[in-house]
Amino acid sequence: MTAQIIDGKAIAATLLNSIQSRINTRLKANKRAPSLAVVLVGADPASAIYVRNKRLACEKVGIRSIAYDLPASTTETELLDLIRQLNQDENIDGILVQSPLPPQIKDEHIIEHISPNKDVDGFHPYNIGRLAVRQPTLRSCTPFGVIKMLSASNIELKGLNAVVIGVSNHVGRPMGLELLLAGCTVTSCHRHTKNLDQIIMQADLVIAAAGKPGLIQGAWINPGAIVVDIGINRLADGSITGDVDFDAARLRAGYITPVPGGVGPMTVATLMENTLLALELQEAKLTHIANH
Ligand code: NAD
Repeated sequence: MTAQIIDGKAIAATLLNSIQSRINTRLKANKRAPSLAVVLVGADPASAIYVRNKRLACEKVGIRSIAYDLPASTTETELLDLIRQLNQDENIDGILVQSPLPPQIKDEHIIEHISPNKDVDGFHPYNIGRLAVRQPTLRSCTPFGVIKMLSASNIELKGLNAVVIGVSNHVGRPMGLELLLAGCTVTSCHRHTKNLDQIIMQADLVIAAAGKPGLIQGAWINPGAIVVDIGINRLADGSITGDVDFDAARLRAGYITPVPGGVGPMTVATLMENTLLALELQEAKLTHIANH
């Protein structure tokens, strides 16, 4: 068997086109375009690439992106001041703070100060909590992007035995919650999990988010299983690879996502959709208040 490759890049392009046309419809109705504040602290080369891709996607769909490129020496207080200012700015719909942040700034302090209504990354405990209680609003971009990608590939998730490798707050944990919401039976694995190979061998759906190149061996894949590789690992030669041994796994899987060109583009497209949604939710709230 050779797996069907899930083309995340093509699925993301279709999603971006639909967001672009929703924004064009707004503009024709004399409504404003959504706007996204993109905050980059320091000069981490990988972060600079991610931020550039996000800004380019904004340009493509018609979202106004406002760049805040701050020096690596920025203090937590200074960044929190900027967040407060952006929270209050009625012309900003989404706030994205690219991680990792320099060591003097605690990620969680920053995330908790972003208004949940503008938390387009879906990282705020309020938004993760809404997903946990099955009332999602702004959903973490990578896990929600995976769900959209599987749905666009006509893969029915209900009842699948899903195994997620990785339990980080931004990726693995919300991925498990998304799969529960979709009706899967979910097993979450992490660095203390015993017999990872045995667990993966039972899976109908394997989602790798460990950040360890080649961690998931091809021989562990249940024949016909769906394999989604979230990992992005840069090798010494500069190339990018996932967490799954792709060449071996594709010989056993039913479906598989490549790296690059799989989950990555879906994350960016979902961020665009969240930014539009943040504006729409805010407008709906204002209309509701005006009518009462
Ligand atoms: P993280 O380091 O915060 O978390 C890694 C998780 O993997 C932890 O929960 C850890 O317990 C688990 N883990 C580590 N080694 C393991 C092992 N040997 N066996 C089982 N579990 C193990 O990383 P993260 O922020 O969650 O990111 C994970 C990967 O996803 C990284 O490669 C990152 O670059 C990538 N990523 C990709 C996208 C995308 O759009 N495709 C978005 C975000 C992150």
